[in-house]
Amino acid sequence: MTPAPQKRYLLAPGPTPVPEEVLLAMAAPTIHHRTPQFEAMVGEVRDGLKQVWQTEQDVLVLASSGTGAMEASVVNTLSPGDVAIVVNAGKFGERWTKICRGYGIEVEEIEVEWGEAVDPAAVEAILQRRPEVRAVLVQASETSTTVLHPIEDLAALTRDRDTLLIVDGITSVGVVDMPMDRTGIDILVSGSQKAFMLPPGLAFVAFSEKAWKASESATLPKFYFDLARERASQQKNTTAYTPAINLMYGLRKALGFMLCEGLPELFARHDRLARATRAGARGLGLPLVAEKSPSPAATGVFLPDGVPGGDLQKYLRNAVGVEVAGGQDRFKGRILRLAHLGHVGPFDVVTGMAALEFGLSRFGVEAPWGRGVAAAEGFPPPATR
Ligand SMILES: *Cc1c(COP(=O)(O)O)cnc(C)c1O
Repeated sequence: MTPAPQKRYLLAPGPTPVPEEVLLAMAAPTIHHRTPQFEAMVGEVRDGLKQVWQTEQDVLVLASSGTGAMEASVVNTLSPGDVAIVVNAGKFGERWTKICRGYGIEVEEIEVEWGEAVDPAAVEAILQRRPEVRAVLVQASETSTTVLHPIEDLAALTRDRDTLLIVDGITSVGVVDMPMDRTGIDILVSGSQKAFMLPPGLAFVAFSEKAWKASESATLPKFYFDLARERASQQKNTTAYTPAINLMYGLRKALGFMLCEGLPELFARHDRLARATRAGARGLGLPLVAEKSPSPAATGVFLPDGVPGGDLQKYLRNAVGVEVAGGQDRFKGRILRLAHLGHVGPFDVVTGMAALEFGLSRFGVEAPWGRGVAAAEGFPPPATR
């Protein structure tokens, strides 16, 4: 006999909670992928992804974590010695730099204060000084600091230049309205374990015409991530190599949920939950990490001096059953990040606030009870469907 598992709540910015219907869809028997049945499913998924990306382009599905699609973006568009601007405003910006340097790209790195969004003028200054810059790489939502970058402003800079705008949208696609084609994004990347309500294991990437053109002359080495080859297969509703078949069942289900909710409602829900979370943090007197340009995917809060963030996070995980994210690098031990993306609703925000109150109380903060919850609840619940 084994005891029932502890009741647990996943409030981290990836992986995010997976709805039971999606789990059950993935429990169907694995079929062969070189079959009309599987190809019909790929066709449905391709159609749904285009709608979510708000693009006429193909959105390719890769069997990798999100970083695979980041790497694919670089190796398919750049050549050794090319110059790229990287916006490094946190751990994921830093990852763009590491990928680029790993492939011999010269990086003009814009280091942004953690918690701040990039100033487009800084990007423009480099573009004017070095017109040979081939790409600007940035996150839309920098998950490590919970900042939202001004992607539209960056697109205005790259649109009429011979420079690609490569956007890591891993915590922004399906969260915030960022229509790829209309905005002028050249490459938009995401991953399954964030807004898509799926387990990890799938990455997604779409290229604009300009990006496909650039790919024709890009000479960085690639094989699995050769996207021209992958596109040729996916346009025939199949994949170049064995796809993550059962994750595709889940993806079809999850895309159906997203599109049934409707994109405007999907974005409005994330915005509302983010606002409620920020209100809750203020109610607890916790300063926001991203005060000026907060992400609608996750909210970072600074802990009061003397509260050990690592221990608090462990306490929430083990004793309370709530998984939140801590801080990385220079924010280690100083912040907590509460996610509100994917399969989440008002009670996830309330749960997160209550958990934070438990944690603060456990580590010496006097009577935090109800202050975060009450402030978060000040936001009205969604209208009945
Ligand atoms: C989660 C995340 C990633 C990481 O992707 P993996 O799936 O872990 O490879 C990259 N960028 C951002 C902004 C993320 O939030």
